[in-house]
Amino acid sequence: MQKAVLMMDYLNVSQKANSSFSHKGDKALDLSGKDKGKDYLKAPFTGIVKRIYTNANAVWLESKDKVEYADGTVDYMTVMTLHDNDVSDLKVGDVINQGEVYYQEGTRGQATGNHIHLAVGKGKFTGNGWYKNSYGVWCINNQYDVYKALFLLDTVKIINGGGYDWKKTNDLDVVNTYIVQKGDRIFM
Ligand SMILES: [Zn+2]
Repeated sequence: MQKAVLMMDYLNVSQKANSSFSHKGDKALDLSGKDKGKDYLKAPFTGIVKRIYTNANAVWLESKDKVEYADGTVDYMTVMTLHDNDVSDLKVGDVINQGEVYYQEGTRGQATGNHIHLAVGKGKFTGNGWYKNSYGVWCINNQYDVYKALFLLDTVKIINGGGYDWKKTNDLDVVNTYIVQKGDRIFM
């Protein structure tokens, strides 16, 4: 089973969960990467694009299979990301492999400065993917604390971890080399 892993080269939590107006009652984090530029996000697990909302270029990626959460939970997981300036390379139904670059920091949809707004939902994609909470903030359905859901890579450079108790791993499908055995069918 895949572990769900937050894969950016730099961890820089520029806005924490349930903080100030735009994250009030919301477990989402803002991730700002190395600097003011646009760092990439790799897929935390092998997943399927379930919805794209072009207003903020919000993308919901649902795990193809159950995954292991950083806190030991085993379930499907849905990750919602916002603010990439260009998601024209994605469409609903696309399968993204764990470790594949699929999202980038940006400013699309009321964002000041390049970052990725990232939220985790427990379980599969449901409804239209999110709801408006009592503070008027759009939250992913079945929202879950990001640091309890996603491991960090051992190799991540931490600029600002937000004070969260992150768990680390280097157990990734993309770094495990599969030895081809007799009877395997190879698709190229
Ligand atoms: Zn945000």
